[in-house]
Amino acid sequence: AKRRGRNTLLLFRQDMALAAQTKLRNIEELRRAIDEQQFHLEYQPLISVETGRVFGVEALVRWNHPTRGRVPPADFIPLAEETGLIVSIGDWVLRTACAQAVAWGEEGLRPLTVAVNVSARQFREKGLHASVAAALSKSGLSPERLELELTESAIMEDVPTALFTMNALRGLGVHLAIDDFGTGYSSLSALKHFPVRRLKIDRSFIRDIPRDQDDIAITAAILSMAQKLNLQVIAEGVETEEQLAMLKEMGCKEAQGFLIGRPASPQAVAERLQGEADS
Ligand code: C2E
Ligand code: CA
Ligand code: CA
Ligand code: CA
Repeated sequence: AKRRGRNTLLLFRQDMALAAQTKLRNIEELRRAIDEQQFHLEYQPLISVETGRVFGVEALVRWNHPTRGRVPPADFIPLAEETGLIVSIGDWVLRTACAQAVAWGEEGLRPLTVAVNVSARQFREKGLHASVAAALSKSGLSPERLELELTESAIMEDVPTALFTMNALRGLGVHLAIDDFGTGYSSLSALKHFPVRRLKIDRSFIRDIPRDQDDIAITAAILSMAQKLNLQVIAEGVETEEQLAMLKEMGCKEAQGFLIGRPASPQAVAERLQGEADS
């Protein structure tokens, strides 16, 4: 038994060493991905429920790995956060999304809001304000067209500091949204003080609508609270006509999800908007 114990320990150590090696390699690859520009952005439409019109897009980062192919954000954003590489990735995302919004305008498309995800780590870094300011000035995008999506948990980590950062960002003229809303624990009293314009109801609450009565109740509560606080609300992850109809009935004015449109290339977004203009 003793011997087996030792073997197990040895195997455990080998596992740890292997895991550490894999991690180092992943970090190395992530670093290279930044240098070699293996990232690109896709854009998912945000619509007004009433009219079905696209009012904005959310930029979503994509990693095309030379051998592994498409690596989903869920598989590399956490490591990027942990290592701080998210700061340079995030900076690139900001600059690219702002430049794209301007490029669409130059193609003659009507002005859209472009929403960009800001990770908890980015939000904590002092350089965020300068990075946003640089993305705006380099692209020439007018600030009110940029919306930064902050997660509830990133804000609640340290409310006074978060408030300071949010107000500074608002000072640039950009808008703020709270992403994955409902999964964290922001108190109503805190919400009142946040300079945000929009809440994004997390997909987990939308998924089982209209079947799940609890999710309907939670969504209704978020909608009524937001209305009282004068906040706009968008439902994330809308996949079916039933969900969209129910949300509309509940007074939800904005939606995003595979039903409405998958994340797509800049060209595909342009074609869709061109189509809307023609019809
Ligand atoms: P998120 O910010 O909540 O983004 C929405 C995610 O839900 C996207 O996944 C999108 O493709 C997916 N989605 C949209 N509609 C539907 C739907 O109807 N059904 C389902 N099942 N999924 C839907 P994606 O692109 O894989 O991104 C996952 C997460 O990775 C994002 O969640 C965000 O937290 C993070 N992420 C993506 N791009 C960036 C980025 O540029 N910067 C940072 N910091 N994080 C990013
Ligand atoms: Ca988001
Ligand atoms: Ca979200
Ligand atoms: Ca989410």
